[in-house]
Amino acid sequence: MIAAVFEGPGRLEVKEVENPEIGPDEVLLEVGANTVCGTDVRILRGEKKRGVKPGTVIGHEIAGRIARVGRNVRGYEEGQPAALAPVISCGRCACCRRGMENACLSPRIFGYDTDGGLAEYVRIPAEAVAAGNLFPASADVPPEHLSLAEPLACCVNGHRRSRIGVDDVVVILGSGPIGMLHLQLALLAGARTVIVSEPSEARRRFAADLGAHVTVDPTREELEEVVSQATDGFGADSVIVCIGIPELVNDALRLARPGGRVNVFAGLAGRGLSEVEANLIHYNELEVTGSSNSRRVDFESALRLIESGRVRVDGMVTHRFPLAEAKEAIEKSASGEGIKVAVVP
Ligand SMILES: [Zn+2]
Ligand SMILES: [Zn+2]
Repeated sequence: MIAAVFEGPGRLEVKEVENPEIGPDEVLLEVGANTVCGTDVRILRGEKKRGVKPGTVIGHEIAGRIARVGRNVRGYEEGQPAALAPVISCGRCACCRRGMENACLSPRIFGYDTDGGLAEYVRIPAEAVAAGNLFPASADVPPEHLSLAEPLACCVNGHRRSRIGVDDVVVILGSGPIGMLHLQLALLAGARTVIVSEPSEARRRFAADLGAHVTVDPTREELEEVVSQATDGFGADSVIVCIGIPELVNDALRLARPGGRVNVFAGLAGRGLSEVEANLIHYNELEVTGSSNSRRVDFESALRLIESGRVRVDGMVTHRFPLAEAKEAIEKSASGEGIKVAVVP
């Protein structure tokens, strides 16, 4: 089969490799789509703190059809559509024991330590099968939409930490795919006003189309003023940083109301150092949180949100590439053109 193999920073080889063999406790997934995310771009540039083993097939937003089921495996059928939660947590470490499997101290992740979705087939190792990382999915939803359950699961995790509720005013900084998913979760949770700040006009239009009440071009408008107007000078209940620009962290603190919540959802560029006016946290009693990755339960919620259409992902995949052009797909994703790029084997 063809696969996109990481050979070291800056080196991705799309080449012929052996078809994966499965053991009696494993499942073989035929990839229907693998959507590309900013993480893949950073992996390829060698910017990820957690490195990828050279020789690994990358790609972690994966959905497809079950091609083969090991003889000891129950609960799956050949031909069944399925989506894959990519974090195989160890279950034993201090984080896993505290219910934070998303922050597992020794995880195995598809596309990092075990071969991922930029291939025709993915072997689902026995521990991932046993942990229920593979979720049977609806046949009515195209795989390129099911694979978006992965980024949405991360947003579901972040959304829980942001504790958005009925009548909240929410500010979302950055309306890439992640911002658009957070926007929809905030609306589902009953937010009164969602304000989206995004320099790209096309993305602002899409956010408005998805239900954003106010969209702001931060290069031309004073976001702080817009938020002040929308809240009678009080500030937003919840601010979510969805783009990894370190300076935005302080902006987010300034936009939150006393007692408000700020979520540094995006990984920040470089070392992630950001100068903040910490007295804003002190005097305003802000709750500052982050969120990283997702749990299997978040993935399940995300999958059901997509399948039921409560979160709209149609229109989010703006570019499609065949597997042979996986490199071009990642470059397209890096260019910031369009919204989501899918590799369809
Ligand atoms: Zn991703
Ligand atoms: Zn663990």
